[in-house]
Amino acid sequence: MRTKIAIIAAVVAAMAPLTAARAASPVSAASPTHQAAADPTRTPASPSYTVSLTGNATGGTWTGHESVNFTNAAATPLTEVYLRLWDNYHGSCPSTPVTVTNVTGGTAGALEVGCTALKITLPAPLAQGASGTVGFDLSIVVPSGADRFGHDGSYYFLGNALPVLAVRDASGWHLDPYTNNGESFYSLASDWTVTLDHPTSLKVPATGTSTDRAGTSGRTVTTATAAKVRDFAWAAGPFAVTSGTSPGGVKVNVYRVSGISATSATSMLNTATAALDAHAQRFGAYPYGEADVVLDNNFWFGGMEYPGFVLDLVSSTALAHELAHQWWYGIVGDDEYNSPWLDESFADYATDLYQGNTGSGCWNGVSWASSAEKITNSMAYWDAHSGRYSTVVYGYGKCALHDLSRVLGTTAMTKLTHDYAQSHWYGVSTTAEFKAAAQSLTTTDLTSFWTQHRIDG
Ligand SMILES: [Zn+2]
Repeated sequence: MRTKIAIIAAVVAAMAPLTAARAASPVSAASPTHQAAADPTRTPASPSYTVSLTGNATGGTWTGHESVNFTNAAATPLTEVYLRLWDNYHGSCPSTPVTVTNVTGGTAGALEVGCTALKITLPAPLAQGASGTVGFDLSIVVPSGADRFGHDGSYYFLGNALPVLAVRDASGWHLDPYTNNGESFYSLASDWTVTLDHPTSLKVPATGTSTDRAGTSGRTVTTATAAKVRDFAWAAGPFAVTSGTSPGGVKVNVYRVSGISATSATSMLNTATAALDAHAQRFGAYPYGEADVVLDNNFWFGGMEYPGFVLDLVSSTALAHELAHQWWYGIVGDDEYNSPWLDESFADYATDLYQGNTGSGCWNGVSWASSAEKITNSMAYWDAHSGRYSTVVYGYGKCALHDLSRVLGTTAMTKLTHDYAQSHWYGVSTTAEFKAAAQSLTTTDLTSFWTQHRIDG
């Protein structure tokens, strides 16, 4: 998100003092929590979320209920689940903007990791293949600020506001801290049905596809459904909207705040449709039917990606980047905290391809700050070296992929990125799997290539 922002080096550079100031003191909780593990199967699997919320007159406060059904895919029994309440980073723990109460289907523990994690112990261990459901009442109060979770005047942005299940894998439970510099979000592909009861005067762009029905007087009930997405985001406000459909058949809705012109919206609509089709041609058809682009010229970052929903400045480069995340992070997931390059470098590389940039000679500009600096470093590292995050993960990262293309040849590189996306569709990418996929396409030993480009794992 936003942070992720990144996208535009200039924007990031301008914001650097802010991001540095805001970054949480890094990292004590950098790694997955210890716990059992060794069972590599990612679980709880196949989450299915049902959410019903009522917004107040402004769209800044939402209350209601959420439940999630899930299956234990692992051989190791599942004795608990964790909810990630990511936006509690924006509060003053234990005072939180996202409040979960009246938990059913398990016993809630105390909030952990700066109020961003809540353990729910299940009534009995779930065996492999067995399913469970937890439910809870939910209250969300959006704070001030043109942010991925915040409001810019009467425009409210609710990224990462809905609690999502944490992932358990070979490393145990992933309970990494929130990062304001980028993303910590790691979740499995999930199904969502979200009902938003809101004033009819407010538009609510959202993940998925939406249908409206009349609510009580002056209100509309919007039901958004989405399949195989990793998160759900929405916005609320008196947005103006411009819509169109790409030649490839993707519906795009561009929402804008009052300070952005219709001309800018049309330009961004044209970028969105072209970029979505270009990315789809390279990596596989966009599976979500439509995409919402929400424009605000006051975001302190270039853009932020959510499934079927992106926040953006009026910047075609940032928009092409955020839409590339639909594939790299969205369709092909990754552990964004421990391997941010797997979505950021790839999204920037896809943006270059879309713009016709070949990255010729780009590696000549690489200059490492230290022997510890690597493209594959985690957000724990980048939170402690935030001034280098964009340069290395976005800039050097995409250049490394351009260099890989030069080693493999463009035909093999095209095949690699396409086939790798296909083989990880709705799954999770890892550095080791990407490296193996690349190696399988060439007789050249890539060991020294990975070493030179500082791609470890
Ligand atoms: Zn990004």
